[in-house]
Amino acid sequence: MIIERTANSRIGELDPKNITFGNMFSDHMLICEYENGSWGDVKIMPYGPLSFSPAIMVAHYGQGAFEGMKAYKDKDDNVFLFRPYKNFERMNKSAVRLAMPEVTEEMFIGGLQTIIDIDRDWVPFGDGMSLYIRPVIFASEEALKARVANKYMFSIMATPAKAYYSEPVAVKVSDHFSRAANGGVGYAKAAGNYGGSFYPTMMAQEEGYDQIIWTDDATHTLFEECGTMNVFVRINDTVYTPKTSERILDGVTRDSFIQLAKHKGIEVIIGDLKVEDVYKAHKDGSLKEAWGVGTAVVTTQFKAIGYGDERLALPQLDAEDSYALQLKKALVDIQTNQAEDPFGWRVLVERKN
Ligand SMILES: *Cc1c(COP(=O)(O)O)cnc(C)c1O
Repeated sequence: MIIERTANSRIGELDPKNITFGNMFSDHMLICEYENGSWGDVKIMPYGPLSFSPAIMVAHYGQGAFEGMKAYKDKDDNVFLFRPYKNFERMNKSAVRLAMPEVTEEMFIGGLQTIIDIDRDWVPFGDGMSLYIRPVIFASEEALKARVANKYMFSIMATPAKAYYSEPVAVKVSDHFSRAANGGVGYAKAAGNYGGSFYPTMMAQEEGYDQIIWTDDATHTLFEECGTMNVFVRINDTVYTPKTSERILDGVTRDSFIQLAKHKGIEVIIGDLKVEDVYKAHKDGSLKEAWGVGTAVVTTQFKAIGYGDERLALPQLDAEDSYALQLKKALVDIQTNQAEDPFGWRVLVERKN
């Protein structure tokens, strides 16, 4: 690994009380380039612009995929990653589906250990605060040829994130648009999956909703995901979530919620979740809550579900009664080393650099 440290740290500009997510980056970035059939040296260098021609293939053919994960700091200044091997495996699943070269463990896990160690001052400490980490891989060959590229770039960058409280959202059940289809790329964190979801989301917003509940593309009768989150529904005291498939992304937060719920003795049913059953449960009063989960916000509760012409209002449970909020707290406590980690999810970032 080649390490070039910045001579001009911007850490003084980081105000933990005023973090704006996503446009302030930590001092360093990791870059590794693939050419002639193999990955080159892993380099850690000052964060900053790179130059490409507009013929860069990812801009034309969308051969690109990313990951999203976080680093957390405890009260003793230890820094932890959360289940990073899940992201490593998923990045390579995405790479394979998009005909891109897989990244090595040294690049991904070794790269994370080194860059987060070097930029550890950028991991904010405090309730729910974190450093959001974005690994990405994309076709960097400059050529207008609609084929698998010969050059790729793998990069890791990071942006501080504050405690994410998200207001409950109103979601609209899609009866037309689809995020993913069988045989497609829905299970990959493909850049284009996001590009394709913005317009339908905008349409839902025009109807007074915040997000879309994606349904199965064939019949639009099954709950699949919510925006870019996996979805959970609680009917009486049982929690339901769709099983992962070619259309449903295998979220790390989803898997963690399932394990935490089972650990607490909550019944979890993983399988087809019919829109009709959620609707009926709302009508008979057994629909207690529904929420989305993902790395960025951990949990977003739903306050209303739009279905056909109806807007179904959901009761707002507080921290004491809400499974969504209880599970969120249990998860964040493990991530930030405020609770035992019976699952072995935390990975310490070692001090070496
Ligand atoms: C990233 C993502 C999620 C959430 O995955 P996490 O690993 O929990 O962050 C869910 N759905 C989609 C479509 C995603 O891209």
